[in-house]
Amino acid sequence: MQELTNLIDFYSKFSDEQTCRDYLEKMRWGDNIICPHCGVIDNSYKFKDGRLFKCGACRKQFTVRVGTIFEDSKLPLQKWFLAVYLATSLKKGISSIQLSKYLGITQKTAWFMLHRIRHAVNSTGFDKPLDGEVEIDETYIGGTRKLAQKYDNKSIVFGMVERGGRAKMKHVKSSGARVLLPEIRSTVKPASTIYSDEWGAYKTLPKLGYPHGTVKHHQLEFKRGNAHTNTVEGLWSHFKRGIDGIYIHISSKHLQKYCSEYEYRYNTRDMTDGERFNDWFANVHGRLSYKELLG
Ligand SMILES: [Zn+2]
Repeated sequence: MQELTNLIDFYSKFSDEQTCRDYLEKMRWGDNIICPHCGVIDNSYKFKDGRLFKCGACRKQFTVRVGTIFEDSKLPLQKWFLAVYLATSLKKGISSIQLSKYLGITQKTAWFMLHRIRHAVNSTGFDKPLDGEVEIDETYIGGTRKLAQKYDNKSIVFGMVERGGRAKMKHVKSSGARVLLPEIRSTVKPASTIYSDEWGAYKTLPKLGYPHGTVKHHQLEFKRGNAHTNTVEGLWSHFKRGIDGIYIHISSKHLQKYCSEYEYRYNTRDMTDGERFNDWFANVHGRLSYKELLG
């Protein structure tokens, strides 16, 4: 696909509704249309309006939106496409207030669109465990923390990053060993070397088969030999700049979606905007209703 380096490119490529629909059909089906009602392949014909299909097997009608996150939205695809372009190409993402102004829609609608766009990102397969040299760390987001009163409503995000590779971010309930160790074991390939600070939860990593290097942050030691956590610190600073600047109020309930969004952005950082846009559309299957979203 032609490169999408700016909004002019975007509008020349997706100049009208039909172009967007054709693109979505191509991304979804290629040359083999699958009926979303009965699953029969290559037995559907397209009406002259360029929009509606009819299945020769079950006789039901459908459009390319059926069975995707666009299914029950009345918004034109062109607005959706612009939202996807902005959400995937802007380094820090976009807020629902900003998006509502760009698209001439309510903030509520914009908020729902962004959550659906994130949902597609969420379902992107994390098919391979992290491997090689992996840095891990926990960070605290939002809320307030008053140690004296043992009052703490901050949310904890656990990050695991391959040096020079991919990242995984998880909203976790606690920073104890019982929560973090299973996360590590399900995400990091056994025998990978793990680097962290000296947090007690990580002490038993060598027993679990992970060579473990530590840095003593409280003694202002940030690098010891190969042991440093600069990569995961970089991920945090990016994540925090983004959510502080753009997503001011993130409820704990939705925090994982933002983690996934940033994880996706990090893991696709070497893609061009056009490649990332295509990659996102490869994942549009799967609906997300209001009920699922808010439930
Ligand atoms: Zn059918």
